[in-house]
Amino acid sequence: MDLHEFQAKECFERHGIPVARGQTAATAGQAAEAAERLRPPVVVKAQVLTGGRGKAGGVKLCRSVAEARAAAQAILGMDIRGHTVRTVLVDPAADIRGELYLAVTNDRAARRPLIMASAAGGMDIEAVNRETPESILRTHVDPQIGLRDYQIAGLASGLARARGTALPAGLRHPFAVLARSLYDCFRATDATLCEINPLAVVAEDGRLALRALDGKMSIDANALFRQGGLAEVRDASAEPAGEAEARASGINYVKLDGQIGCMVNGAGLAMATMDLVGHFGGAHGIGPANFLDVSGGASAQQVATGLRIILSDASVRAVLINIFGGITRGDEVARGIMAALEEVPTALPMTIRLAGTNHEEGMRMLEEAGLANVTVAQSLQAAAQAAVDAARSG
Ligand code: GDP
Ligand code: MN
Repeated sequence: MDLHEFQAKECFERHGIPVARGQTAATAGQAAEAAERLRPPVVVKAQVLTGGRGKAGGVKLCRSVAEARAAAQAILGMDIRGHTVRTVLVDPAADIRGELYLAVTNDRAARRPLIMASAAGGMDIEAVNRETPESILRTHVDPQIGLRDYQIAGLASGLARARGTALPAGLRHPFAVLARSLYDCFRATDATLCEINPLAVVAEDGRLALRALDGKMSIDANALFRQGGLAEVRDASAEPAGEAEARASGINYVKLDGQIGCMVNGAGLAMATMDLVGHFGGAHGIGPANFLDVSGGASAQQVATGLRIILSDASVRAVLINIFGGITRGDEVARGIMAALEEVPTALPMTIRLAGTNHEEGMRMLEEAGLANVTVAQSLQAAAQAAVDAARSG
């Protein structure tokens, strides 16, 4: 679960990380009021769950209340990479002297948290990682031992020597405190990512200081049961359309970028199905539109809900249903699919593969139903190939 910038910065602040104390606004009028209270200059920032807002015009420096109102007017309602802006954050503007990068994430391969720091902050860190990976300093943390002072000192001296924004000598201690706070925040919130970009060197009252000007946090959704405060801030309206409905129905759904809507029972089978779609479709730019595990009995109701979720994604051009009948019987699944199609009619091409208990009967029922857009496939390979063909010609 991703947090908005203002939510991430609230977490940071609770852990003692210096942030700008801003206010959110849902209308241009509220933004103007916030700007008046904070006294310009202020920055007005789009709150959407995607990065690169600056480049997209979603971050504006404003020198007056009128400018802040106009900026909010322009940014609210803006579409940033498929995310509609419904809230802006109005922050007091900082006098930026340099931009660093600091993040804690999980390195799954190393099976431990990883701290990354860079003097090339502010910009697209993925691009930095591609072009000059050596400019990103990395330190793994043993979760049993915790973050040690020497590790932070190593990062600080790396940043002090770096090209780009060299960490000023006077900020080494504040950096050490801040890095520890970020690690504590990461651990305490069950985060999978805590990122500050930029971690700005700012001038205030004639002195240099560090400030988290941007914040990005992802929380492990499996830990939300013990993250009461965070579970409540989940912004369902900012998530891809189907994800909230799926969660409410106990369906595991993750929206992806492709064109083939996949409905599968079982997470492993769903992954294998996606791999096959990628295998046949990859060369043609065709891939899975989602991961969806209907789970459990694949009842008519569950299949209908899954289908509705898949079809709510406008980029879906073909549907692939792959159900293995263990406890679930193939004839029951077939009945479920037909009931679902009555409830959620669609003209999109659908390929269905059933295997396991009573699969012959299920397949015969589907064939006899004579639905024009439905193809019953004999194998998973054939099903994936047919779905790719349908998506290509559709
Ligand atoms: P992102 O593009 O989505 O990562 O949004 P950021 O919050 O990182 O903002 C993008 C850029 O806007 C930063 O790298 C800064 O250069 C600039 N920016 C953000 N806040 C301030 C501020 O308070 N003052 C000034 N002058 N620039 C800011
Ligand atoms: Mn940023």
